[in-house]
Amino acid sequence: REYHEKQRREEVARCLQLLNAALRRENELKEQLSDLEKEIAERKRIEKALRLREEQYRQLAAIDPLTGINNRRHFFELAQSEINRARRFNHSLAMIMVDIDHFKKINDTFGHHRGDLVLKRCSELIKKCLRDMDVVGRYGGEEFSILLPETNLEQGAKVAERLVQLFRETPLKVGQGEAFVTISVGVSELRGEMDLDTLIDEADHAMYTAKRAGRDRHETWKSP
Ligand code: GH3
Ligand code: MG
Ligand code: MG
Repeated sequence: REYHEKQRREEVARCLQLLNAALRRENELKEQLSDLEKEIAERKRIEKALRLREEQYRQLAAIDPLTGINNRRHFFELAQSEINRARRFNHSLAMIMVDIDHFKKINDTFGHHRGDLVLKRCSELIKKCLRDMDVVGRYGGEEFSILLPETNLEQGAKVAERLVQLFRETPLKVGQGEAFVTISVGVSELRGEMDLDTLIDEADHAMYTAKRAGRDRHETWKSP
């Protein structure tokens, strides 16, 4: 009987040992799991930060920081794909060049910093005149380029005239004061196998014709 009792106690002790070992192992696993969870959370955080950074770089490469519209480089990229699409489906496509009249005078009067603000207001005014599908870019210092999909020369000229009138009538806020600016606008349209450079050249040419004709107006491209 005593022998049996001893055997039973030994068995209980072995069971307790096993139970202890199992509990220790469970704790170890729990710790490992929590470490893993922490690592996963950390990786997710890093991944999110990377995605955000990537988006910021993409924006930096595409957007003009002053006006928030497409920079020249990105405008060219978008314009090229618009041209490809217009050609493929045989759709019309108009191009508009906008140059602010006597902008040097704005800088002389208000200073370069407020001149910058005027440029910002100008880009807002231009966007107000356009549809969502239109593509606008800052082509140069005080020059803006606009592509109008599904738009022919005649319709493009109407948009150009609307822009000219809107600028003529709208006072632009600069600090406490107001400035009025006028614009000269040139319009061209895609024909046949024309490339982007030619489309832009023709709009540019028409814009200079508008300058020579007295500014504050639009002209359409006419073959010489
Ligand atoms: P017009 O086009 O009617 O012939 O006269 P303009 O005075 O606008 O002439 P031009 O195109 O030769 O000069 C543009 C001026 O715009 C020159 C430059 O000082 C100013 N400008 C260009 N980029 C910026 C800019 O980012 N900020 C400011 N404040 N001014 C700029
Ligand atoms: Mg200019
Ligand atoms: Mg100018």
